[in-house]
Amino acid sequence: MRLRIQQINVPLAYTDADVLFHARRMIGCDAAALSEPVVVRRSVDARARKAEPLHVLTVEITLSLPALPRNAHRPSIEILGAPEPEIPPLRIEWPAATPRPVVVGAGPAGLMAAYRLAMAGARPLLIDRGEPASARTSKVAQFWNRGLLDPESNVLYGEGGAGLFSDGKLTARSKDRGPIRDFMELLHSCGAEASVRIDAEPHVGSDRLLEIVARLRERIVAAGGEVRFQARLDDLHIENGQLRGLVVNGVEMACAHCVLAAGHSARDVHALLARRGVTLQPKPFAVGVRLEIPQAAIDRAQHGRFAGNPLLGAASFRLTRREENGARSCYSFCMCPGGTVICCASEPGRLTTNGMSYSKRALAKGNAAFLVPVGPADYPEHPLPALAGVEFQRALERAAFAAAGGEYRVPAVRLLDFLARTISPALPNDLSCPRAAPVEFRSILPEFATFTLERSLPPMLKELNGVKLEDAVLYAPETRSSSPLWVVRNDEGESTSTRGLYPAGEGAGYAGGIVSSAIDGMRAAAHVARQIAGGKDSGPAA
Ligand SMILES: Cc1cc2nc3c(=O)[nH]c(=O)nc-3n(C[C@H](O)[C@H](O)[C@H](O)COP(=O)(O)OP(=O)(O)OC[C@H]3O[C@@H](n4cnc5c(N)ncnc54)[C@H](O)[C@@H]3O)c2cc1C
Repeated sequence: MRLRIQQINVPLAYTDADVLFHARRMIGCDAAALSEPVVVRRSVDARARKAEPLHVLTVEITLSLPALPRNAHRPSIEILGAPEPEIPPLRIEWPAATPRPVVVGAGPAGLMAAYRLAMAGARPLLIDRGEPASARTSKVAQFWNRGLLDPESNVLYGEGGAGLFSDGKLTARSKDRGPIRDFMELLHSCGAEASVRIDAEPHVGSDRLLEIVARLRERIVAAGGEVRFQARLDDLHIENGQLRGLVVNGVEMACAHCVLAAGHSARDVHALLARRGVTLQPKPFAVGVRLEIPQAAIDRAQHGRFAGNPLLGAASFRLTRREENGARSCYSFCMCPGGTVICCASEPGRLTTNGMSYSKRALAKGNAAFLVPVGPADYPEHPLPALAGVEFQRALERAAFAAAGGEYRVPAVRLLDFLARTISPALPNDLSCPRAAPVEFRSILPEFATFTLERSLPPMLKELNGVKLEDAVLYAPETRSSSPLWVVRNDEGESTSTRGLYPAGEGAGYAGGIVSSAIDGMRAAAHVARQIAGGKDSGPAA
């Protein structure tokens, strides 16, 4: 019989023999009755009351006894049923008369949609307005070092999408374990550490992602797909609610099936959708700041006397605070341990903050966004209501660019100066973001956000025992944590207004983060396949 055993505690540097030893003890049988254990999940327990930090494992193992020993009947040991049937690989007989499917955007959603369609035999075309990861890296270096923005190939646009210069956290809240497992396996086969398949909080880092996305692209091409960079979707040709074509770099191509995965920074795409009558709906989002503190202090707060143990790595945190006395709720988001705060922009004269790290997470500071929810009552109406939130984000980003003196310097303030409502006379010289410039944040952020942050940040940081307010520096504005709108779709993943258009990923409003966007892209590919298999193909463009 196949068993799943949870809560196996082993040293951080455990061996297979340790796992087998504990499994045997928990079941109460000879080692000979057990197969090799397979670790399916792994988390860390570094609570101070433990003698040493531990890995807590969930393991699957086969027991060759007719029944489970009596002592083994406990909640942490589960008898597994028949293994889940494998999901058969998608196969599509793409009709010869139908233009091949087009995927717009080579971020996590678009890459995975194109990969799935290519593996299914649909020979998709994947287009992205930006450059391949390697060329993009030089553009990003120019931007960070000299403030030179390429609006088409930058931190947010190009191969790998917004996730390329990121922490590469692969956390997923979804319960959709099958597709998540498939995605992690694929990442591993493209160069990610094997641990991404089992860790509760997997992480790859920006340096590794650069290699991984390039390999993923090679797989798409090897399976019959085509990838074009510096290819921007400019317009949609829609007739009677049916997608007929795409205008790419000013040239129209026939297209009846398009997975639109342009991300939520592509504001020109959202404007284009609104113009063409594609149904959009405003969505709540959040704005705030990025806070940076010494990583050693975070490690001490989280790992106590185990701080600094190289096997534990850099610690992270998640903090939340409920609304109280006129202050809104506030939460930390996208924590980057041992990382750096970065400047992001995709439109001239506007900037936003974010965080990234490398695979070792070894830099001296950790950072996280601290966000305050925003709703339609917070910003002026717009002739196209779904775009009102976008304009609100833009206004903050424009104000930030101007307040820091242009040239894409990043507004920053010491936390204590922020609380005193003043500009910092000088910023620490060891900030992770060297292009920071002292700014008073009330010239950038709306009053409800600064009011909430003033009241929330000190008590939230207090939860990180030993972290000093005087060591904290804030950067702003954090505006692009999630999409401000939905590109509304039905249960078949198709736009409710436009047949043949499959909005996917973060820009569609239905996903957030690398993993959920990737899974959403996989689903979009499956929807296209089902549509073709169901014979509802809309035929060639007129
Ligand atoms: C700095 C940073 C750090 C982050 N860190 C993490 C993290 O650690 N973990 C995590 O889970 N998430 C992280 N995120 C969020 C994550 O990156 C996004 O949720 C994810 O990338 C969204 O994927 P997507 O494919 O939907 O869109 P995107 O990644 O935004 O990709 C969209 C792609 O579409 C292309 N495009 C846009 N317009 C057009 C057009 N008109 N024509 C052709 N192509 C177009 C763009 O060039 C881009 O490549 C981070 C984001 C940023 C910015």
